[in-house]
Amino acid sequence: MNVSFEQLKSKLPEDRYTSADIELAKKAFNLGSQAHSGQLRKTGEPYFIHPLITAIKLAEMRLPIEIVVAGLLHDVPEDTDVELDEIRNAFGDDIANMVNGVTKLGHVQYRGLDRYVENLRKMFLAMAQDVRVVFIKFADRMHNMETLYVIPEHKRRRIAKEVMEIYAPIANRLGMGEYRGLFEDYAFRYLEPKEYNWTKHLLGQRVKKAGPAIEKAIKAVEQELTLHKIGTNSVHGRIKYCYSLYKKLKRYNDDITKVYDIMALRIIVGDVSECYATLGILHGLYNPLSGRIKDYIAQPKPNGYQSLHTTVFDDQGTILEFQIRTQEMHEEAEFGIASHWRYKEKPEEKEQRVEWMNELVKIQKELDEEDFMDRLDELKLDMFQDRIFVFTPNGDVFDLPAGSTPIDFAYHVHTDIGDKAGGAKINSQIANLNTPLRSGDMCEIIVEKNRQGPNADWLKFVKTQHARTKIRDSLKKTKKSFFSSFMGRE
Ligand code: MN
Repeated sequence: MNVSFEQLKSKLPEDRYTSADIELAKKAFNLGSQAHSGQLRKTGEPYFIHPLITAIKLAEMRLPIEIVVAGLLHDVPEDTDVELDEIRNAFGDDIANMVNGVTKLGHVQYRGLDRYVENLRKMFLAMAQDVRVVFIKFADRMHNMETLYVIPEHKRRRIAKEVMEIYAPIANRLGMGEYRGLFEDYAFRYLEPKEYNWTKHLLGQRVKKAGPAIEKAIKAVEQELTLHKIGTNSVHGRIKYCYSLYKKLKRYNDDITKVYDIMALRIIVGDVSECYATLGILHGLYNPLSGRIKDYIAQPKPNGYQSLHTTVFDDQGTILEFQIRTQEMHEEAEFGIASHWRYKEKPEEKEQRVEWMNELVKIQKELDEEDFMDRLDELKLDMFQDRIFVFTPNGDVFDLPAGSTPIDFAYHVHTDIGDKAGGAKINSQIANLNTPLRSGDMCEIIVEKNRQGPNADWLKFVKTQHARTKIRDSLKKTKKSFFSSFMGRE
């Protein structure tokens, strides 16, 4: 494959990117291809192919040009003589900071359990700073997975494990269905090649068998919807991801006849009322299977997924699953949190941070959900069981040991805030100073300006060594000053 700017330019459509955007991308392309010139990938191709494809993936998500540009430059400081400061001078702080974020994330590698837990923690904190860095890292890793076959066997396993245990679950939490599915499938292929091939074979057989029925249904549905004046954006088939099928098969003792959604038909319509109208039309056309209608529009899944699902029989007795959704729901399902960046021209940096913080709060809250904790157990991810993430009112996030109280939090923010803590609000509600905090809580400390110092009773409930030490120090000081002023008076 040759490296040319045209490859990227063709992925920057006019309805999304301005000519200034394209100029900026061109400038980054020139800097990047210069910096990496002479370097080769293990595939034997010019190295710059890799950042180029990373940037293309970001453009395919229609993300703002700054993210695409940072994608083009993401390996420059680490792998070339060009330093971050040069990027900063040429492209500004925002892009340089994203590149730096990706570089930092790259240093975290999965090496057995301990490293992996630490890894996840670092990744999470990096995410808390800027979710755009996560999009770039995802695109970068996706391209590496696409060419993983050139990497030596033992390294391949490590990377595949990292993707299965860190990247895929995070993509899932961010609602990025496409990335999650692809990450899992690539990792599955290298971690369990036998099982992967078996599932892939089964899938192939089913697709072959069900293909004609699906095609027939697409035509029938299109006709019927036109008749009812429902303007569809698209009616298409979608095939289940391999790993997702594999997990389902394991739940049903490998009985593939119990899995109805191997191939589904997806109908994308204009608005919510058309979703319900389409459901009615389908049920006029086919016999629905009872108990299989799911309204994820009225009741979205915890990660925000919305659609109507129904399973029906066609006239041949073939079982078909339909998924009905609007374009917005579709993008949300495929790209998750990244879809919120798709249409914004140049959102204020602050606004992005607030939005991301809100998302993070939601994700953290979900961490308390039982099924996710089960999954974590399964993955031997125990870090969330002993760490919690707590927010300040202006959106900063602190991670603390589980069971930490507002006093631990206060000393974490600043010693003076701890010493003068008179009360606390958790999620805007007045709470006792010894209330255990939970992940996702927003904690506000009410400071009493005239307060002399900490209360010795706090030592009975604080969880962090940090708070304990600070309380003791302050108590000693207050005692001393009381004593010395007393002595002075003598
Ligand atoms: Mn890279």
